[in-house]
Amino acid sequence: MLTSTSITKTIENNGKLTPEIALEMITEMPSQELFTLANEVRIRLHPEKTISYVVDRNINYSNICTSVCTFCAFYRKPGSADGYVLSHEEIFHKVEEMISIGGSGVLMQGGLHPDLPFEYYETLLRELKSRYKIYLHCFSPPEIDNFSKIYKMSVEEVLVKLKAAGLNSIPGGGGEILVDEIRRRRRTECNAQEWLYVMEVAHNLGIPTTATMTFGMGETIEHRIEHLERLYQLQEKTNGFIAFIPWTLQPDNTPLWKKYPDRVSGEEYLRWFALARIYLQNIKNHQVSWLTQGLDVGRKALHYGANDIGSTMIEENVISKAGANHKATEEMLREVIISEGFTPVKRNAGYHPLAIG
Ligand code: SF4
Repeated sequence: MLTSTSITKTIENNGKLTPEIALEMITEMPSQELFTLANEVRIRLHPEKTISYVVDRNINYSNICTSVCTFCAFYRKPGSADGYVLSHEEIFHKVEEMISIGGSGVLMQGGLHPDLPFEYYETLLRELKSRYKIYLHCFSPPEIDNFSKIYKMSVEEVLVKLKAAGLNSIPGGGGEILVDEIRRRRRTECNAQEWLYVMEVAHNLGIPTTATMTFGMGETIEHRIEHLERLYQLQEKTNGFIAFIPWTLQPDNTPLWKKYPDRVSGEEYLRWFALARIYLQNIKNHQVSWLTQGLDVGRKALHYGANDIGSTMIEENVISKAGANHKATEEMLREVIISEGFTPVKRNAGYHPLAIG
């Protein structure tokens, strides 16, 4: 058994855990030791006693999707009576509501629509930028990959056009577990290499992205560690991930519900959060997912490696349909941060501070 002293030395010497050490830590290390190590990494990377958060709005422009991921309760097949595509005017109205309560941008994602014209996306970004000057954190890798396939453009061409239209950064949605054995079982359309490739091209074009991990969908501990390793390796190459956000499967109303009705517990989430903070020291910001775990777990994570508590989520349509019903206002997030002894920092989706205190 490794001691926390020898692991601390490993971390300080080369900043990198091996998958073998990570496996030993997650299976054998007492929680308090793991949490303390993660907190030490957080303090080293973020010595200031601040915790950041963002006020923005999730906008899901369409739920029509050609993929049939077994963990998803959001999508509707093309032709479905419940399918929708928001008009640009409807999206502008949502943005105006977001701005009126002090928001700085949108996180915009949708299903893999088979035939919306590319102009829908390009014009939308251009209009949002010129009308409102907001931060645009839009289109996860499976969507970019889908654009590339249906419009017969390379991933680079797609991203160059979207960046020119105003795209600031890309959310890490669709990362799930970056192991194809799991992705095939979950019927995820975009494979691990395609997801990583979109991220690599984005980083090389100067488009920052976030990285995510969704766990509790039948993967093994080794699969989770492989996911962390793949993110680590890409970050070493590009340094384009601005944040890591792990969350847990919300199975309600999905085909996975019968198989995995139990959610990952708060304790297990926090152990993995701490391990990821130690493993992914090359990604500066680690955000706790209060949306899937609740504010009590969010509060604890601030002492176990988190330096960010995420978004107020003015609107959330994807995970909430699968059973994540936690809610928080800006005041609630600030109260949690302050009561845990930190100073709140309001930021945009690019992790640039907007107001401190
Ligand atoms: S997770 Fe995304 S890609 Fe998969 S079915 Fe749902 S909307 Fe489609």
